[in-house]
Amino acid sequence: MQPETMKLSVVIPAYNEVQTIQQVIERVRGCGIDCEIIVVDDGSRDGTRELLQSMAADPRLKIVLHQENRGKGAALKTGFEQATGQFVVIQDADLEYDPRDFQKLLPVLINDEADIVYGSRFSRTDQRVSPAWHQAGNQLITWLSNLATGLKLTDVETCYKMFRRPLLDRITPLRERGFGIEPELTAKFARIPGVRFAERPIGYARRTYAEGKKIGLKDGFRALWCILRY
Ligand code: UDP
Ligand code: MG
Repeated sequence: MQPETMKLSVVIPAYNEVQTIQQVIERVRGCGIDCEIIVVDDGSRDGTRELLQSMAADPRLKIVLHQENRGKGAALKTGFEQATGQFVVIQDADLEYDPRDFQKLLPVLINDEADIVYGSRFSRTDQRVSPAWHQAGNQLITWLSNLATGLKLTDVETCYKMFRRPLLDRITPLRERGFGIEPELTAKFARIPGVRFAERPIGYARRTYAEGKKIGLKDGFRALWCILRY
């Protein structure tokens, strides 16, 4: 494990996100929390890597490159290994989530109300609506995951999972290379004895597939399998 330096490590998996990655990094820098930013380029071929390399001068920014595309889970695993903060959070490389919401999540950990806090997209409704199949899929995955873990979460597939960094040692080795990482993380966190979960509402500005969204129905089925497996 790396020595602790900063408060929050923000791990950003990025695959072909040249349209948004710079703005995401700027939003994280402007989120109002002292954080280290770890971007894992997951074998992009659209100029994301080159753009990142041009930003490499910032000492708060760590950039790691995968030689080929391996999936969000693999990218997170690489990023987690580089994290040195007291707390860790996942940030996607698109603009669906707003890093200012870290300010709603971090106090839960700092005030010792929980060890893991998820930002939930479904405990509020004043945001762009997902297609019914997508929302139904999310709810089915969440419901089955709750059944398996005994937790009562409202959004397992959320990107915003914030936790105390030492918990990483309790969930390794992470196996899922793709989007199966979301239920795997949840199942493994839930198995840690005495661990406390919390949820807070966050905003969500869904992007469409035309805008670069990559998760799909196939990943939903994988998620169901992961709930059984982990
Ligand atoms: N991603 C990745 N490798 C992949 C696919 C996706 O690193 O092979 C990243 C992607 O760049 C994004 C995050 O994983 O930052 C989530 O992807 P997406 O937005 O498509 O999925 P969703 O937000 O629907 O979970
Ligand atoms: Mg996304």
